[in-house]
Amino acid sequence: MNGKTPQSVRWYDAQMLMQSPSAMNTSDSDEGTPVSVKIRQRLLAARRRFHANDNIADFIEPGELEVLLDEVETKMKGVLASLVIDTENDHNTDDTARRVAKMYVNEVFRGRYVQGPTITEFPNAEHLNELMIVGPITVRSACSHHFCPVIGKIWIGVMPNEHTNVIGLSKYARLAEWVMGRPQIQEEAVVQLADLIQLKTQPDGLAIVMEASHYCMAWRGVKDMDSKMINSVMRGVFLKDSNLRREFLSLIPGKG
Ligand SMILES: [Zn+2]
Repeated sequence: MNGKTPQSVRWYDAQMLMQSPSAMNTSDSDEGTPVSVKIRQRLLAARRRFHANDNIADFIEPGELEVLLDEVETKMKGVLASLVIDTENDHNTDDTARRVAKMYVNEVFRGRYVQGPTITEFPNAEHLNELMIVGPITVRSACSHHFCPVIGKIWIGVMPNEHTNVIGLSKYARLAEWVMGRPQIQEEAVVQLADLIQLKTQPDGLAIVMEASHYCMAWRGVKDMDSKMINSVMRGVFLKDSNLRREFLSLIPGKG
């Protein structure tokens, strides 16, 4: 009976010895702090918003995205465990946590984590001042509410003036892909895209129409396979000039 107490004291001491070096490391550097917490702290310090459809690339240091992917994988494993899926014996799901983490971070929500596409703007040397329409551009996104796919099309109308910057047609698709590659709300997505194009090109007028299927309404909820949501943003001369607005809408196939 007496012999038990010293043994347990020795064991305790050994534990303390083993723990103290790593405990000191943790306080000295931030080793052991999840990378998502580090990124969040930087965002909070800069008072920057980090909603689902915000880009946070400025707050991610080189190499951290890979570490973030590992963190998301670990958390996804927890979700699968809570769904009572035997990932150890089910060969279909044993790597699902990794696949889903990759899909979110590197693919479908990439527009949150990487810098925007580099777009070269040119002065409007030809003094183009005619309505220009780009589209349909295929849109792939996901809703912020359910993380279900949102798939559709957008059309962009630009009314340039002599000071408007000209960007290549394919660049509109690149900008759209970056904005839509985040969990989105359709109404906010078109506004974000309009702000971005406005900033890059400074046109007299800008119009965007988006038409998309929301799979949260097809796969779950009301299970309506055919419903589509259509919305638009009109800026500048498109707001003031109803003829121009009508011309733009009549030139969109199937939207006359
Ligand atoms: Zn939804």
